[in-house]
Amino acid sequence: MEKIDLAVEILKKGEVVAAPTETVYGLFADASNDVAIQKIYEIKGRPICNPLIVHVSDVERAKETAKFSEIAESIAQYFWIEKELPLTIILPNLNKNISKFVTAGLSSIALRRPNHKISRLLIEKFGSSLAAPSANTSTFVSPTSFEMVKSDLGAKIPLILDGGSCSVGLESTILDLTQKPFVILRPGGVSKKEIETFLGEDVLTSAELNIQAIKAPGMMEKHYSPNLPVRINSLFPQEDEAFIAFGKTNEPYDLNLSLSGDLKEAAQNLFRFLKLLDNKSKFSGIAIMPIPNFDIGVAINDRITRASAT
Ligand code: AMP
Ligand code: MG
Repeated sequence: MEKIDLAVEILKKGEVVAAPTETVYGLFADASNDVAIQKIYEIKGRPICNPLIVHVSDVERAKETAKFSEIAESIAQYFWIEKELPLTIILPNLNKNISKFVTAGLSSIALRRPNHKISRLLIEKFGSSLAAPSANTSTFVSPTSFEMVKSDLGAKIPLILDGGSCSVGLESTILDLTQKPFVILRPGGVSKKEIETFLGEDVLTSAELNIQAIKAPGMMEKHYSPNLPVRINSLFPQEDEAFIAFGKTNEPYDLNLSLSGDLKEAAQNLFRFLKLLDNKSKFSGIAIMPIPNFDIGVAINDRITRASAT
């Protein structure tokens, strides 16, 4: 049997399956099944108040789940279908067939269409929406490869589909369309500029609004963290620290996010490097060089700032 058909069978039984998306690997379950969704929270050790993103195969399917305004529909058409970019949108929940555990009882729902042939085929063959957070233990580093999922959750889940390395490497941008101006709740694979250029108007960020953690728990202070302490904006390592460089440096480093200073390449490498260097017997901590704060660099800085929170 094809692995993907086996995955669909497992999902139909109310179990979970890990699969790649273009952002990070996700832990998927039937969005309409309370028991299956509760398994996601249990396996990740995720607080039950952290709502999950619902993954859909197309805009039509999404419209059965959430109330789309005209502008919401054009955003989905442009970012999901035309550009195939990782944008999650928050819309009013129509409360149809989606487990209350997915939305943590909120009146809104988070939707995204993944751009990866395996997760897309999985949703299409399953025939309805799948909820998925990242396939890692809560608060730890998100997985961007099959091996990373296996070493963290391999013993707890029946199947991991292997799709190699994730092309984006960081989570989706979350855009809240339930308030005006629209608000970016979490920076990610789509930049603020790309959204504003499409809309022809400014959007706010949660930092500007000082939105608290409960609105988007991916915003919680400590998140995306290895076991070792992380020190950001470091020009050189302290004794016994692992050193992650970005671009050219005269300092000796352990790993370089991108020798040419390419932010997209840095995003692809970030979580894998944090995991690779997370070795207490070798290092006392992980130091990271400054990362330019534009385009996907904003999302990189968001993740490493949270990784460095104590
Ligand atoms: P993760 O699954 O770790 O990538 O995180 C998913 C993010 O989506 C979390 O930060 C959630 O809080 C956020 N999210 C999901 N549903 C909603 C919602 N209805 N309103 C606001 N944020 C949401
Ligand atoms: Mg996560």
